[in-house]
Amino acid sequence: MSRSITVVTGGSRGIGAATCRRLAADGHDLVLGYVRDTEAADEVARDVRGAGARCVVVRADTAVEADVERLFEIAEEQVGPITGLVNNAGVTGRIGRLADTPTDVLRAVVDVNLTGTLLCSRRAAQLMTAHGGGAIVNVSSAAATLGSPGEYVHYAATKAAVDALTLGLAKELGPDGVRVNAVAPGVIDTGIHAAGGDPGRAERLASGIPLRRPGRAEEIAAAVSWLLSPEASYTTGTVLRVAGGR
Ligand code: NAP
Repeated sequence: MSRSITVVTGGSRGIGAATCRRLAADGHDLVLGYVRDTEAADEVARDVRGAGARCVVVRADTAVEADVERLFEIAEEQVGPITGLVNNAGVTGRIGRLADTPTDVLRAVVDVNLTGTLLCSRRAAQLMTAHGGGAIVNVSSAAATLGSPGEYVHYAATKAAVDALTLGLAKELGPDGVRVNAVAPGVIDTGIHAAGGDPGRAERLASGIPLRRPGRAEEIAAAVSWLLSPEASYTTGTVLRVAGGR
């Protein structure tokens, strides 16, 4: 069977890195996008290649249109016609109340989480429609329905927009054979909490999660891989919550 060719944005660390490793094991060749952590991206690529997958690493800021164009151009030229996209790149900005959040942080979070997802989805829609099919998985968040008061309502708002994008694009692209779904993780143990200024956040919130623990990146990767797979062939326009009951 021919291997899938999947672009993963933010594949260097956290959920994106776990997703790359899982997809490689599940028969995908990969195009791994990242922005800052070259060492981490290269390490994931080494593991992925060790599992027998092809992997091209591309420094591409999803908020920058030219970078997105280049990401997909390299994918198609160096790996082949893409069959999958995982819109995983995302940021929270510093944790705090909206009243205390500077404009540049609001704009950066919207730029990466929403505009970046739109730019990558648009390019994938063009290519997948031309190829006759494909699958997109957006990494949303349980925050979209919880609202994240006191922490990052701006972030939650971008993820709610990603859920709406998932639904609308699924309906738009269904006739073209392109499925569009999202995974909405709850609190997952990655570096995103430290980046937001609260390294202990995942463990601190554990007691309020019905399963009484934060999730692991691998548990999100499994859901992403399933949504990309033929097993999910009749699943589109859905947001799969993987949040320990939260
Ligand atoms: P993370 O550990 O901080 O990793 C973020 C990844 O995104 C890194 O690979 C980073 O690349 C990349 N990235 C950041 N900005 C980017 C940009 N502008 N363009 C391209 N790549 C960019 O975060 P994570 O926890 O794995 O989060 C991944 C996704 O899951 C995000 O969309 C997040 O909102 C969502 N999520 C996370 C949680 C959670 O509790 N962890 C919960 C719900 C949803 P560099 O290495 O170059 O910095």
